[in-house]
Amino acid sequence: MNNKTYHEPANNIPVYDECDILIVGGGSAGHSAAIAAARAGAKNIILMERYGYMGGDVTGGYVIMVPKLSWYEKSFVRGIQEEWFTRLAPIPNAVLGPDLSKIGKDDDDALLGVWARIHGCVSESEPKRLVRAVYYEPNQLKIEMDKMLLEHKDAIRVLCHVWATKPIMEGSEVKGVIFENKSGRQAALSKIVVDASGDGDAALKAGVPYWQTKGDERKRLNDCLMYKISGFDPDTKAQGCLIDETMVLWGPSPGPANGADADELTREEIKTRLSVYDDLQEKIKKNPDLAGSQIVETGALLGIRQTRFFEGVYAITGDDVLEGRVFEDSVAMGVNPIIHSFGYRRFLTHEGYDIPYRCLVPKKVDGLLIAGRCMSSDQLAYESWRAMAPIFAIGEAAGAAAAICAKDSINPRDIDVKKLQGVLLESGAEIGQSRQKQPD
Ligand SMILES: Cc1cc2nc3c(=O)[nH]c(=O)nc-3n(C[C@H](O)[C@H](O)[C@H](O)COP(=O)(O)OP(=O)(O)OC[C@H]3O[C@@H](n4cnc5c(N)ncnc54)[C@H](O)[C@@H]3O)c2cc1C
Repeated sequence: MNNKTYHEPANNIPVYDECDILIVGGGSAGHSAAIAAARAGAKNIILMERYGYMGGDVTGGYVIMVPKLSWYEKSFVRGIQEEWFTRLAPIPNAVLGPDLSKIGKDDDDALLGVWARIHGCVSESEPKRLVRAVYYEPNQLKIEMDKMLLEHKDAIRVLCHVWATKPIMEGSEVKGVIFENKSGRQAALSKIVVDASGDGDAALKAGVPYWQTKGDERKRLNDCLMYKISGFDPDTKAQGCLIDETMVLWGPSPGPANGADADELTREEIKTRLSVYDDLQEKIKKNPDLAGSQIVETGALLGIRQTRFFEGVYAITGDDVLEGRVFEDSVAMGVNPIIHSFGYRRFLTHEGYDIPYRCLVPKKVDGLLIAGRCMSSDQLAYESWRAMAPIFAIGEAAGAAAAICAKDSINPRDIDVKKLQGVLLESGAEIGQSRQKQPD
């Protein structure tokens, strides 16, 4: 980058509107936050999204597998994500995964044989059991996510093709966001802002301290370009996400790139896309039953797994995850393995851990909640809660919390957590504390 500076003259910009809750980013966290806020009674919500569709990584990034959703017979997905699956179920070829009533079964060899071909649907440990893992078709999901928002159109206004650029601050309190789109630069004022942008674009400029592993200076999750193929042998043993006679593969990685740096991201994204054909050739060498496959599509965006993590009142740790800690202010739970730092997928030896509300509340800045993959955490813990199911639940909790704060005119740090937990439980969310012990 050139090190010259340009002095931007001060000017007046139009106020697009005022609202109670403004959500930046319509990924799995932001979309859930908007729906949860509306269901908790908020009437004036704006949801801003950079692209023309919802979902972020889970639609545009082609991340279409929701793994490890059960512990023995118990499924942990509830709330808005379970609603995705029930909405997709009647649509032909929109969703794939073992039947909920069969989860945990270890005595039906035929059933286990059928699901063993689908990655993640049978346990890696012995005895083999049926595990709840769900695959979905991302274009159908985009449509369902739109429908869910439209069902709350009296409460939620969606603004796509918008880049939220800067929070509006009064002292240390966020009061809205400046954004840009084809119509120019505008301001949206809000009582509460939920930053669900994945990279924490609003939190960054609000001055919330953060940490980030930008390159390979420490262990971190790699980014990856997912792509879809067709024309393979339907009995292929290759590991991928099979759906609708196509398969989505975990594609090439750019190496440890800084996904929050536009120049670096551009360079790495192009480089990665150019290596997709070589990646498929490598996979064909390992799995000859993929021979003849064609690349149908590459993900609309390079899947960025991690960038900034913002300091909250509490940062969830690897110990919390490994010990299965229970927190008084739990608003979500995680059950997924820690996938990278140990050099193998370290599955949990208990039925899950709580995710405290304090991780969503920035340490020093008011009027702001942080939801999704940039929440307050250390690296180890993130490698577990980064999966979609917890991310959804975190978004849901942020939305319900924002609704309470806006209604009661209070700051997120002053919320009555019991009241928040009550709202979440009433809406059908899984908040962790009611867990039972491992079945015999
Ligand atoms: C390659 C890859 C593979 C993965 N595999 C799995 C898997 O198999 N199973 C699983 O459960 N999880 C998986 N994950 C993790 C999971 O998909 C993510 O952690 C989760 O989807 C993150 O959701 P999010 O809403 O926090 O962020 P994102 O999905 O990144 O959403 C952020 C949204 O904000 C928007 N946005 C960003 N900046 C702005 C701005 N300034 N203004 C307006 N909008 C903005 C973006 O366009 C995007 O829609 C994977 C992730 C990746 C990248």
